[in-house]
Amino acid sequence: MYWTYENWVHKYARVHWAECSHCNDGEGSHDAVESRAGKWLGPFDQFGQALDASTFETKPCGHCSPTGDEIVERPEEPAVGPYGAENIDAAISYAIDHCSAAEITYSDLFASAGLQSPRWYFENGLRSVITHFMEAFHHACARQGLPPFDAFVVNAKGSERAGYPGTGYFSINGLSDPLGDRTSDANVRAAFSFRDAELQQIRTWCRDQR
Ligand SMILES: [Zn+2]
Repeated sequence: MYWTYENWVHKYARVHWAECSHCNDGEGSHDAVESRAGKWLGPFDQFGQALDASTFETKPCGHCSPTGDEIVERPEEPAVGPYGAENIDAAISYAIDHCSAAEITYSDLFASAGLQSPRWYFENGLRSVITHFMEAFHHACARQGLPPFDAFVVNAKGSERAGYPGTGYFSINGLSDPLGDRTSDANVRAAFSFRDAELQQIRTWCRDQR
């Protein structure tokens, strides 16, 4: 199921999966500061319907990256900042070198990649860079036959998600955010057991490297 958020102030629209943390089945994010700046259209069964729902320029949400079964030309990705394959490779090398750790932080991963800190991107309104970089990292691990290293990248102490991956880790794997207020118990269990299995894959792979 899809929803489209129409922003009247900035005159754009974004299509989300209903499960996206920014969408919450058309309720919006918990800190819904945008509530008077636009409205939710939907729900829609078809991705194409959601794309066509608004007369404003409409793109898929960069966070949940909705897609449809029908062939829909995917709009251009937003500009995401200064990183390339070499940054992703550096982050992968770091993850390989630290695969025996129980976890690594986003901050350490970004530093190893030669990027600004996640906090810096966040504070400069470039949160999408974090999401996109981690998506690229996720896909690069899979492409290179490596374990899903994004499973053991966590938020540092002091974050409200300390010790856990960001919402993007769960959504890219088609899971609900287990830390979300509205996530059902069954979905919380499903998300945590999926992650536990991925952490086990990392441990097994790492042990086999010795
Ligand atoms: Zn979304």
